[in-house]
Amino acid sequence: MRARVQMARTQNNLTPDAALEELLAGNQRFASNQLTSVEHDLVILKEHTADKQEPFAGVLACADSRVPVELVFDQTVGQIFVTRVAGNMVTPEIIASLEYGVAVLGIKVLLVLGHTGCGAVKAPMNCDTVPGQSSVMYKQLRPAVEKSGGNLDRAIELNAEHQAEWLRTASTVIRDAGKGGKLSADAGS
Ligand SMILES: [Zn+2]
Repeated sequence: MRARVQMARTQNNLTPDAALEELLAGNQRFASNQLTSVEHDLVILKEHTADKQEPFAGVLACADSRVPVELVFDQTVGQIFVTRVAGNMVTPEIIASLEYGVAVLGIKVLLVLGHTGCGAVKAPMNCDTVPGQSSVMYKQLRPAVEKSGGNLDRAIELNAEHQAEWLRTASTVIRDAGKGGKLSADAGS
């Protein structure tokens, strides 16, 4: 058990490439129903992370209930710094949160995660009328929608790439960490 607890605290030993590989390996375990994170002792993990967090990865994901980030990457308490908003869009609050993850917590990899069947991307494709303030998102999602040629999967992929690029453009903290080799920044879906 001690070895497993140690996994959550090895941030400093991971290179950005190794951090990305750990996320992808975790996603493989999730896809093949071979989760290992559920075997971690949560009591010990909570004790170890009560005073300090050392997540190795940061993720910007959609609010969709089908994308529970820790589960999807087979990680547990203290391992991923997660921000979620419909359409995995970059907003000033998201940028500020992820900058904290990069500059203060020292995350090694930052991933913008799109997902299959994303309703936030689909709505502007169909020009759906939506209640309340949802349509304020359309403007930011439209570039990907327009480039997709009407293909939803492609629009979702393009949107993740677009938001990742936006993060790099809008945040000198994130851009500099990437250039300095301290951070791997990527988009996936
Ligand atoms: Zn979504």
